[in-house]
Amino acid sequence: MKKRDINSSRVPVYRDAGFELFDADTAAGAFNNETNNDREPELYIYSRYRNPTVVAAEEEILKLEGAAWALLTQSGMSAIDVAFSVFQKGREVRPWLFFSEIYGGTITFADFILKQKRGLDIHSFSPDGERYDSGQFETLVKKIRPEIVYLETVSNPMLIVPDVKDIISISKKYGAVVFVDNTFATPLLWKPLEDGADVVIHSATKYLSGHGNITAGVICGNDDDILHRCVEYRKYAGHMLSADDAYRLNTQLKTFSLRVRQQFINAAGIAALLKQSPYIARVWYPGLKDHPSHNEAVKLFLNKGFGGMVTFDFAGKNKDEKRKLRDRFIKIVRESIKIIPSLGDPRTMMLPVASVWGAKYPEPGMIRLSAGFEDTEEIFRIIRESLKSLG
Ligand code: PLP
Repeated sequence: MKKRDINSSRVPVYRDAGFELFDADTAAGAFNNETNNDREPELYIYSRYRNPTVVAAEEEILKLEGAAWALLTQSGMSAIDVAFSVFQKGREVRPWLFFSEIYGGTITFADFILKQKRGLDIHSFSPDGERYDSGQFETLVKKIRPEIVYLETVSNPMLIVPDVKDIISISKKYGAVVFVDNTFATPLLWKPLEDGADVVIHSATKYLSGHGNITAGVICGNDDDILHRCVEYRKYAGHMLSADDAYRLNTQLKTFSLRVRQQFINAAGIAALLKQSPYIARVWYPGLKDHPSHNEAVKLFLNKGFGGMVTFDFAGKNKDEKRKLRDRFIKIVRESIKIIPSLGDPRTMMLPVASVWGAKYPEPGMIRLSAGFEDTEEIFRIIRESLKSLG
């Protein structure tokens, strides 16, 4: 990198649209090296291709995920677009297999863009009750021989954790490329590339940036060929993250493990409080022994935590009673725990599940909560008092 003018310890925000190339040979060298993801100072050309502030944030993320490379994009969905588009070759390719419990935006992308517009053969793999069955998965993979298998480490909103190591090895046995969206688990709980996944995706809008003030996405991997294709597609489709967002993301990444560990602690405590309340019928949290994925989560996360998300359902004899209790709870708590359709923010926040995913999860009493990293005693007090006020 060009010697900086002052002794700043940070990579500055390089707001250049185009970079100075000094002479014709430098320019030719830079343009010939475009897709190599090279970080030499004279090789920066144009910020939509590559930007030093973005590269600095990418270097932080690749360390976190144990990846050879990381590429930042403008949103989680644009990371998904890049990763999908570099594999999608046309109508003649093998089917793609998506786990059914994944982010709704990804399902919509697969349906509307991959299937309806690009003509891909899209299949879905559903849990058996609330657990994915590896045997059923193998039967399906053997039959359809997918090119891509796509899953999330922890699903939304039921927080199902597949036996991912099994899923990866079965996928590999039948020649599939494995994509893992690791947004909910974060690399603090599991690093999918270390266990053979090919591509890891994050909505960096969530835990990686962790302050609810940036929309960003990232693709991580080890394979050079995938890297080159992603670099090219990101450039052609214009998915590059801005230098300003990358600077803030980089700063916020410095506190990643501190923040997220605190979120895991708060989530575990909130789950325990909810579990004790007579107003709550059920709590979904992988750290609880009665969660259907508890064993998978213990095996995969090795006691590093169970994530920052908790889902619960209000008690009631019928849907109407549950809905009423939910609405009273929201009214009591909403000044402190706001309804915000995101996750991983500093403050604990919530979403009424049926209002967002009613077609799939119509239960009116369900709330999905994203634990913040606020003071543990303070958030426990808020939850305790709000539940008490329901009486
Ligand atoms: N993946 C997961 C698991 C998500 O929850 C989201 C968004 O909520 C996305 C991807 C898409 O990310 P973004 O909203 O940053 O585009």
